[in-house]
Amino acid sequence: MSTSTDHGRPDPEATPPARGGDDRPVSDRGDTVCVIGAGASGLTAIKNLREHGFGVDCYERETGVGGAWNWRHDRSPVYASTHLISSKPFTQFPDFPMPDSWPDYPHHSQLLSYFERYADHFDLRSHIWFGTEVVRVEPAEGDRWDVTTRSTGGYGPERTSRYAAVVIANGHNWSPKLPRYEGLEEFRGEIMHASSYKDPAQLRGKRVLVVGAGNTGCDIAVEAAQQASRCWHSTRRGYWYAPKYVLGRPADQVNDTLLALRVPLRVRQWLYHWTMRLTVGDLTRFGLPRPDHRVYETHPIANSQLVYYVGHGGIGPVPDVARFRPYAVELADGREIDPEVVIFATGYLPRFEFLDASVFADSAGAGRPTLWLNAFTPGHPTLAVAGLLQPDSGLFTLSHWQTVLFARLLQARRDRPERAMAFARRVRERAGERYSGPVKDSSRHWFEVGHADYLRAVQRALHDLESSK
Ligand SMILES: Cc1cc2nc3c(=O)[nH]c(=O)nc-3n(C[C@H](O)[C@H](O)[C@H](O)COP(=O)(O)OP(=O)(O)OC[C@H]3O[C@@H](n4cnc5c(N)ncnc54)[C@H](O)[C@@H]3O)c2cc1C
Repeated sequence: MSTSTDHGRPDPEATPPARGGDDRPVSDRGDTVCVIGAGASGLTAIKNLREHGFGVDCYERETGVGGAWNWRHDRSPVYASTHLISSKPFTQFPDFPMPDSWPDYPHHSQLLSYFERYADHFDLRSHIWFGTEVVRVEPAEGDRWDVTTRSTGGYGPERTSRYAAVVIANGHNWSPKLPRYEGLEEFRGEIMHASSYKDPAQLRGKRVLVVGAGNTGCDIAVEAAQQASRCWHSTRRGYWYAPKYVLGRPADQVNDTLLALRVPLRVRQWLYHWTMRLTVGDLTRFGLPRPDHRVYETHPIANSQLVYYVGHGGIGPVPDVARFRPYAVELADGREIDPEVVIFATGYLPRFEFLDASVFADSAGAGRPTLWLNAFTPGHPTLAVAGLLQPDSGLFTLSHWQTVLFARLLQARRDRPERAMAFARRVRERAGERYSGPVKDSSRHWFEVGHADYLRAVQRALHDLESSK
């Protein structure tokens, strides 16, 4: 099926070089599919494409598998204490369970060993070009793609190969999103984004301001409560700080039971409010702002310790930052504080620099593609994105089924073109569809999906692709 060698490597002897638009030599890789990135989503893409009979070349700019979970890489966003936020059974790949002996919420080092074992078990490494970054992905004739790569860091010549299809699995948790504030440049203290926070020693004995109440911001505030001489935690609005355990079970498992029983959103919200009331109680009593939204309308924050440390005086909740002064920070309520270290846990933005923004109908170039199932873009039936999701549970199962669907779509293009055309119609009609209840309109929630609704939609798409009608 593919012109790849046994190890999935391009064989320069196999095909005479084609010519790209600007007369570059292009190595034709026949039916081979290109996968960008060897994190969770890229690894499962390689596995599923191989299992469906496709040759695969994967390009990974780092030197190992695991993506965000590979703490050895500079761009990894994990810090020493990072554990899963979603629980083990709701995170793992459906065909590769994590060991029974592991805890409900494994440590990031366990996650890395999980990916290394997954890669070895399914023999994926021989299809990966490590230390190679993709710099351009351009449409070529016949729905094919010219992918240009070079050694990470820009050393050596560029090389262009032509592929039958491309899976973009480049992750969306590595490019820091930094807010703008008046006076930030003049501030004399230390400023960092959470992506540079690695170890609590960075906080020891210092006055620390943590900005942002996502899961990372809350984790860092809790660490600062134990290590720093003082910790302020600035949030723009009030949030629901859900415990990681409810009724002795990981919270996502309890939520999933309610979803499986098809308990309506309103009832789930009511039950959640009551659970919060019975366990944590009124958040405003702790000086935390009252949430301005109902639960499930923002990405859930799972942190059993934040309220505890607020209650013990270790964390001082403060409102949004108004402006920076050389030796102080002015808050939205007019108060001034004097942190030595400011950590922006303000999230990440997706980046697709190798792709012209028009391919994703992302006219603003803001990194928010218009996709169906967060994966398929109108007008480009041989391109898919994997892992561009922020689920209310674990991601890996979702990436797995996304890439199974893409592999089946590629098979249908070959064997049942009428099915593939019907699929392309649905992509055009339904791009931008959402798979969650109403959420706050902020880049933090762009890719939010309810895992049950999302998996149901993928299942329907698989059924439509394969049914005999
Ligand atoms: C602190 C933290 C906690 C988290 N907790 C959870 C959790 O509990 N559960 C959960 O499911 N998810 C969690 N996540 C989300 C996490 O991003 C996913 O688990 C997972 O890592 C996403 O996998 P991915 O393959 O899609 O992206 P990544 O893991 O980011 O992998 C992308 C890969 O693509 C490579 N790449 C990027 N651009 C290029 C290029 N141009 N050329 C070549 N290679 C490229 C990168 O080097 C990287 O290896 C957490 C994230 C963070 C930051």
